[in-house]
Amino acid sequence: MNSIVSPTSVTCPVCNSVCEDLPLYHYTAKQAAAHFCPITRDADRYQRLEASIKKLWQGDECSILRCNECGFAFGYPFVGGDEEFYGILHEQKGYPVWRWDYDVAINQALNPTGGGKILDIGAGVGMFLSSLGKEWERYAVEGSESTRKVLEASGIKVFRDLSTSADKEAGTFQVITMFQVLEHIAEFHEVIAQCRKLLSVGGKLVISVPDGEAMIRQERLTGCPDMPPNHINKFTADSLSRVLKDAGFETTPAIFEPSSWFNFKGALHLRVIADSTKPHSIAAQVYRVPNKLLRTPLIAGLGVLAMLKMLPYFGQLSKGGAFTIVGIAK
Ligand SMILES: [Zn+2]
Repeated sequence: MNSIVSPTSVTCPVCNSVCEDLPLYHYTAKQAAAHFCPITRDADRYQRLEASIKKLWQGDECSILRCNECGFAFGYPFVGGDEEFYGILHEQKGYPVWRWDYDVAINQALNPTGGGKILDIGAGVGMFLSSLGKEWERYAVEGSESTRKVLEASGIKVFRDLSTSADKEAGTFQVITMFQVLEHIAEFHEVIAQCRKLLSVGGKLVISVPDGEAMIRQERLTGCPDMPPNHINKFTADSLSRVLKDAGFETTPAIFEPSSWFNFKGALHLRVIADSTKPHSIAAQVYRVPNKLLRTPLIAGLGVLAMLKMLPYFGQLSKGGAFTIVGIAK
């Protein structure tokens, strides 16, 4: 049996205080793998995920700790997913969609600046960059080789290595964006320092992340963990501002994602996932149905059942689960 790790001398990655409280949550590699891919859905993929998670954690367990001082919460061992982990995780992926935080970036940083060099870190297939006009010279950083090729084919320059590029092109960028990226990266101090280096004075760094408090609330209400090593950082607006100020930025007040039915729908999906990881649940049986034509309406039925259970929490679950902060380089 696994003993529960209660780290007693872990320091907060944001403010360096010692975190002495008991962990908020504690997970094994099996629980994490089952969260990303239930064994009933694809046993081979589940096992590859479990092996890759154990390698990242250098063991079988991970705790979620929260700093009393600054409110930042984080996974311990403090390590994010690597290319292998995300390679397996993204074997099933949806189509990219336009996001609310793209509009925040355009209104708060791009329109007031008017043009210049822009870098999107974690650009995906480049949906945001491709939407921009000719006044922007577009650059990207992206972890997957196949996606890098897609970006280059659409005329976007790709940095292979952020730290080398930060040396070569220091002070030449007007805007850098990171949409829902920083929560995955244990080395966030280094990444933000490299962004500061790349930006000209007055240049803008736009960061959106899931709200740490919302992640914890969602976990309580849906039963679905916000599972490491995917999200390793749970920032609050205060703890992220602190990181930016320490790195030489002025910050503007956080802009929170608006409430929407879409957020509630996301919570229902999480509830279904949480149920499907219990081997004897109806949800687990449904995910085992091999015929997709049959499985899809059954999963929709699970969504309706989840909605009946979750409706009393509609107010809390429809709240936006993310926020955006703009840092201005000093
Ligand atoms: Zn702290």
